Amino acid sequence: MNYLQPASDKKALSPAWFAAGFQAVIWRNWGLVPPKNIAAALNCTECRLRQSAAELGLDPKAEADPIWLKRGYLTIIRRNWHIASYGQITTLLGTDEKQLAFILKEDDFMWAKMGGFKPSVEDNVHRELTAEEKLKTGEIKEAVARYGEQFDFGDNSFDFLDKFYNPQKSPEIAVLAAKEGGFRIAYSYFAVFGDPLLDESLDPYPDELLRQYAELGVNGVWLQGILYQLSDFAFDPELSSDREKRISNLKKLIARAAKYNIGVYLYMNEPRAMPKAFFDKHPQLKGETEYDTFALCTSRPEVREYLYGAMKQLFTEAEGLAGFIAITMSENLTNCYSRVSPAHIKCERCKARTPAQVVAEVNNILAKGAHDAAPSAKAISWTWAWGADWAGEAVDMLSEGQIIQCTSEEGLITDVGGVKGSVVDYTISQPGPGEKSKSIWKHAAARGFALSAKVQINNTWELSNIPYIPAFDLIGAHIKNLKRHDISNLQLCWTLGGYPSLNMRFVDYLMKTPEGTAAGFLKLIFGEQLGEKVHAAQRQFSEAFADFPFDVGTAYTAPQNFGVMAPFYAQKTGYAATMMGFPYDDIDSWRAIYPIGIYESQMQKTAGGMERAVCAFEKIEDEKNAALWEIVTNAKAAACHMRSVCNHTAYIRAREAKDAAGAAKAAQDEKNNVIRLIKLRQTDSRIGFEASNHYFYTVADLVEKLLNLDFVIRGSLVEQ
Ligand SMILES: [Zn+2]
Repeated sequence: MNYLQPASDKKALSPAWFAAGFQAVIWRNWGLVPPKNIAAALNCTECRLRQSAAELGLDPKAEADPIWLKRGYLTIIRRNWHIASYGQITTLLGTDEKQLAFILKEDDFMWAKMGGFKPSVEDNVHRELTAEEKLKTGEIKEAVARYGEQFDFGDNSFDFLDKFYNPQKSPEIAVLAAKEGGFRIAYSYFAVFGDPLLDESLDPYPDELLRQYAELGVNGVWLQGILYQLSDFAFDPELSSDREKRISNLKKLIARAAKYNIGVYLYMNEPRAMPKAFFDKHPQLKGETEYDTFALCTSRPEVREYLYGAMKQLFTEAEGLAGFIAITMSENLTNCYSRVSPAHIKCERCKARTPAQVVAEVNNILAKGAHDAAPSAKAISWTWAWGADWAGEAVDMLSEGQIIQCTSEEGLITDVGGVKGSVVDYTISQPGPGEKSKSIWKHAAARGFALSAKVQINNTWELSNIPYIPAFDLIGAHIKNLKRHDISNLQLCWTLGGYPSLNMRFVDYLMKTPEGTAAGFLKLIFGEQLGEKVHAAQRQFSEAFADFPFDVGTAYTAPQNFGVMAPFYAQKTGYAATMMGFPYDDIDSWRAIYPIGIYESQMQKTAGGMERAVCAFEKIEDEKNAALWEIVTNAKAAACHMRSVCNHTAYIRAREAKDAAGAAKAAQDEKNNVIRLIKLRQTDSRIGFEASNHYFYTVADLVEKLLNLDFVIRGSLVEQ
């Protein structure tokens, strides 16, 4: 059986800065993947492999840190996508095709992130080098040694986890989150995709994280719940066979979190679609289709009965479960309208009904099931992706007691650099809320519903590789606007942005303090004098971030997330940038709605402004202040990533204009930027990490980028 989509004919991009392709496989997997796996993938002995590693300047005795295969496998897949075949990638990961296919399909849209196809890689195995290649390899080794004299590039990845899983003191339980004043729900900063309720070693919420959350006013945490895994699934009982173990672990988490007054919420996206074979037995339940799955049509009474019963069972058995957050449009295929526009609906039963009817009905059933078992459980109906033309009608049909949650920024009108745009989600640079959310809240409030906003208070896809963006003015403006609309409940983040941060403390302060301001908060944290200086510096930083050319396309495809590690290519790659995968050299996707000149000048303003803010932060003398150190580190890293976009854009434009000197200058500027980031990363292992993408880059990637830049600079000099 073929689990994987066949590789495409499109040729992979070869890392020409190495002397031979197999060297890239060694470089990118050294220390991450057991050498025996690398040797097997490259078809050589481990002894020969270690020799070849030494020839590149790597430590020939190095062993892999097993944490990478457990918590960093997406990083490994991404870095090998263009240099290894499927077979080699499975060998490196020590897995099989079925498991790789599962990761690509299910692990946060990994297949889409990779571009939706596998480039073809010629058999990249170990071989003897030619005389010329040996010479080039010697130069690489010399360069690596030279860089090694300038700065340390030991790998500190995942060091930050220790603080949470092995805290020096056992967590004190004295801290209790406030139950009054609305909910603040967060998601673990370091959750791994998978089945944490079955595999306890994946516990996303160690006590120390819960304790820190409680201290920051977070009184709820969420994780994904798949209903057929948590309740009896009569249509196919085998799917719920591990139900009891999951419920038992869920109850343990509920009890642990309760010690801190933190409630556990499940994100639900139901009913989940089933494969074709399922409907051989249940043809009457078959609804809309997407890829190779079909919806369980909720216009069938049996499906509605199942949903109700499953929710009731879940909330009966997992006693104390705080509530659930329901997404009823988008994400996975669920009800027949969830992924199909009304104009294209084929399901005869749902065709006769409106999306508002179908969607409201699903929310009502989930809420009734939960409330019949646990009347105080919170039923949060998230209007994410509800059509603007029918959201109001759906709200009118919702049963009492549900909480109406909107993605705060939705429908926000933007005007950056004179270019008008509008926001669906994921911005901090443009403070919400948006028109669409305001209108749904107003409509819902008039009907007596409680309201909630889903926000991002730490980071967004604008810049997701640092734990939090220290733009207090922008975050403060957003929260202040929300208070004006009487929003007291907040989902603080999606799967990114869950770090227990100063920004979380700031939001907690603002929600509790009627006249609270960023200046007031920073004085509270740092004292009168220092607070004033920090406030002035963050103002510069916030103003710089407000210049970011926001569009969701830019957020998803431009290189500020991978930033500094994205290689410069001397020739046009012809590859289209992918969503949170590879930026390549596809400026047209990066700039989205912005003309190239405006995109470039806005990025320059952002990077330059952030760099000036960093100078202002650095002038504040108090090196021992940990909170200040964190702010400055985040600001520096943000500036490096934004500067990288400027350098990369300048390089591509110079390359296209055949301006060799301009290309060389951009590459040289980027080298200085990479070195700054490597030094910064040595001080903080959180830089470059994000839960659903694992590490965007490793320290070795940053050193490889230096080799890449040396290579393109040499090429440019030849051209001049
Ligand atoms: Zn249907």
